[in-house]
Amino acid sequence: MTPNGSPQWHTVSVDEVLQHLEATPSTGLSEQEVERRRSQYGSNELAEEPGRSLWSMIWGQISEPLILVLIVAGLISGLMGEIVDTFVILAIVILNAVLGVVQENKAEQSLAALKKLSAPEARVIRDGHTRQIPASQLVPGDIILLEAGASVPADARLIEAVNLKCEEAALTGESVPVDKTVDPVVEEKVGLGDMVNMVFSSTTVTYGRAKAVVTATGMNTQIGKIADLLQTTEQETTPLQRKLAELGKVLSWLALGLVVVIFFAGLLRNEPPFEMFMTSIGLAVAAIPEGLPAIVTIVLALGVQRMIKRNAIIRKLPAVETLGTATVIASDKTGTLTQNEMTVARMYVEGQHIDVTGNGYEPKGDFSIAGKELGAEDKAALELVLTAGALANDAHLEKGETGYDMIGDPTEGALVVAAEKFGLTAPELNGTWPRIAELPFDSKRKRMTTFHRVPAESKFAPVIGTEVVAFTKGGPDVLLSLCDRIYRNGEIVPLTEDEKAALLDVNLQMAGDALRVLAMAFRPWDQVPGSEDLTFETVETNLIFLGFAGMIDPPRPEEKLAVKQAKQAGIRPIMVTGDHKATAVAIGQELGIIEPGDAVISGPELDAMSDDELREKIKRTGVFARVSPEHKVRIVEALKANNQVVAMTGDGVNDAPALKRADIGAAMGITGTDVSKQAADMVLTDDNFATIVSAVEEGRTIYANIQRAIQYLLSCNVGEIITIFSAIMLGLGRPLTAIQILWVNLVTDGLPALALGVEPPEAGIMDRPPRDPKAGVFSGGVGKRIALQGLMVGGLTLIGYYWALSTRGDMTLARTVAFGVLAFSQLVHSFNMRTSSQPLLKAGIFGNKWLNWAVVASAFLQIIVMTVPAFESIFDTVTLGWKEFQVVALLAIMPFVLVESVKWITTSKEA
Ligand code: ADP
Ligand code: MG
Repeated sequence: MTPNGSPQWHTVSVDEVLQHLEATPSTGLSEQEVERRRSQYGSNELAEEPGRSLWSMIWGQISEPLILVLIVAGLISGLMGEIVDTFVILAIVILNAVLGVVQENKAEQSLAALKKLSAPEARVIRDGHTRQIPASQLVPGDIILLEAGASVPADARLIEAVNLKCEEAALTGESVPVDKTVDPVVEEKVGLGDMVNMVFSSTTVTYGRAKAVVTATGMNTQIGKIADLLQTTEQETTPLQRKLAELGKVLSWLALGLVVVIFFAGLLRNEPPFEMFMTSIGLAVAAIPEGLPAIVTIVLALGVQRMIKRNAIIRKLPAVETLGTATVIASDKTGTLTQNEMTVARMYVEGQHIDVTGNGYEPKGDFSIAGKELGAEDKAALELVLTAGALANDAHLEKGETGYDMIGDPTEGALVVAAEKFGLTAPELNGTWPRIAELPFDSKRKRMTTFHRVPAESKFAPVIGTEVVAFTKGGPDVLLSLCDRIYRNGEIVPLTEDEKAALLDVNLQMAGDALRVLAMAFRPWDQVPGSEDLTFETVETNLIFLGFAGMIDPPRPEEKLAVKQAKQAGIRPIMVTGDHKATAVAIGQELGIIEPGDAVISGPELDAMSDDELREKIKRTGVFARVSPEHKVRIVEALKANNQVVAMTGDGVNDAPALKRADIGAAMGITGTDVSKQAADMVLTDDNFATIVSAVEEGRTIYANIQRAIQYLLSCNVGEIITIFSAIMLGLGRPLTAIQILWVNLVTDGLPALALGVEPPEAGIMDRPPRDPKAGVFSGGVGKRIALQGLMVGGLTLIGYYWALSTRGDMTLARTVAFGVLAFSQLVHSFNMRTSSQPLLKAGIFGNKWLNWAVVASAFLQIIVMTVPAFESIFDTVTLGWKEFQVVALLAIMPFVLVESVKWITTSKEA
């Protein structure tokens, strides 16, 4: 909502806008004021489409054709006098529907929770502090900060804009970024695309940075006004889900065909037509794996929740499956393999190495040369280098309650902290050397420049000699090639090629010690170049070299193990970094990413390579150094051309194309830009390489669990069909009533199948190579096992039935025995699913507590319907004698004995 009588924001001056919104750019709103405004304007969210109603969900469950047929059949039963049957069938249908709805709800809720987790954030100034908050908490009048890669969190009027460009395709359809300025637009009636002093929610910043005041939030934003067109988010399905949906159809028709055959076979065998019809319908309902898609969704959803606990947020569900097939993880170095808590440890100024002490971002530490304190001359030179580093810088050091917080790029933060150790604080420096223009950092140029007014009283004013100075910092090799002079003994002197080469050697030496090295330079200007000339080609040349700062960025302690695990699991880690080759190699070796014989390719070398050449070389490359985001796309392409399944990390604006191209794009949750997160399949909330490896493990586990549930359900269904089909064919009558079949299907299949879906990772799941993405769910012996194990369950039930029928001659008793064997053998069989080849007696039988409970609960229910007299009449059962009980128990335990024996035999043969 814009306050009543608010002006057309784009037509008036910044001051008027601020006055109207009662906002102060330097301090922002106070928290009390924010609270007040939030109660007035609501939260900054687009209204969600209401979810499906309970009734429509229940109807969705019941309106399946077969279920309808079942209901009708139940009603007919009633008309024919079997009132109890009618109620039992209806009860089963309802129970089934409720279970289905609960499952569906659970799946939907967890997916909705996921969406919340990847909700956008905003950087805002409140109470005089810069902080990162969920974008939903913004209110009109909030002062927000934007930078390249951010998605604009609300509609806002620009207060300050530096080279700002926004991509507004979501609103205007125009995909070319728009240049933004702060000046008022005179015309009132212009299109959104021409309101160049405004930024709009849901668009993205592609370049530069800005400060802006929020003018509209939530549904009052421009995107909110058209949001009802956008809110219908299609639920994404995974390839497996789609394949299973298709498979389900095929299986349904197959089962249906069989049931029809069974029905007519029964008629030919003189079974009573109506009972035969009921049994066939019951069998059809039971045999069709209608619960499979729901179970798969739940297993996926639960798996995704487990991944969240391990710091990976899945943005696109299909990624879960792809993760299990990953063969390469191409990872950034800085912050992903390393801690990204940079600390300047060594500087190189005027031919001398200066050691810097201190840890992290706490600005406490000393400077020394070979253990000795610095002399006055050393200090003077160092001061200018530190000043340059702290000024060509956008990071802020904030003193929090528990310690120091760095807001911004850690590389820059390290320089701010180093300067402060020397007594130069960034806010003060920025006060005396006001910034008047800049060329922001981008990872292709690998440098940035800021222009400052030179304070007349500064001791450096005479050397600089002009009123304006440009400070440039960036990668040493890049920067040195742009320098032609050097600052030495307080003078500016020419830089010879030999000296340059010597400086490059120093850089190499520092980088070889795993230091991330940045160089600082400056150049005097009479005035800031006009906007025509404010380009890096004109500005970043003829620079005067100042010195190097080398920062340590230690590897995260867990990465060495993660790299090892990845390799063990047949996944090749590759480091892709903008940093110098020597730094990258030092870290790569430390982590075990590079092994003897592995190649290292630099960005320029990559540029010189053809695609084919790259395809060949990449097979043995462990590190790509000094690369730009554009190179990442080529790296992904080359790997994919070699049939690799590639996970690739990224954080910057320009990483988006590579993230999209990769099979699994992984964005950084902490340091990543909004643009990269939106392009990614997965967000790592801890920016950690090891998290990708954990996610792969979860991905493999989820797929294995889905296979377990499928194998279990289908082998049980095959067992049911075989039992009835063979009995009818052999002229043994109907071994189970419709209600018995429906019961087994509902109670003994459903719960264990779900429990199998949350099976913990099987031992050794990360010791085998990745799954072949082209292999179907039935590969690896799953299809064969379904058939054989179905035969087993069916055979055992049939044996029980035949035994009772032939020795006791009582149909009801024989059915009760069959009912018991079918239900209990399936429950026992569910434990077999826990391992595919390893014997359970070795792996532990009861390791999945969910399965234990599911089986106990199902068994309990089954015992009740077989023993409590009231249920006996409903389920058409009789109490079994001791002998019958023994037979049921013996047959029910057989699935374990048989399958376990096979496991022992096959594993001992392999060993
Ligand atoms: P990475 O973080 O993997 O090194 P980047 O693309 O962020 O990759 O950076 C590339 C190079 O640019 C860095 O190695 C460093 O030399 C330089 N650099 C990084 N950040 C900055 C910055 N804020 N200002 C100037 N130069 C930078
Ligand atoms: Mg970086």
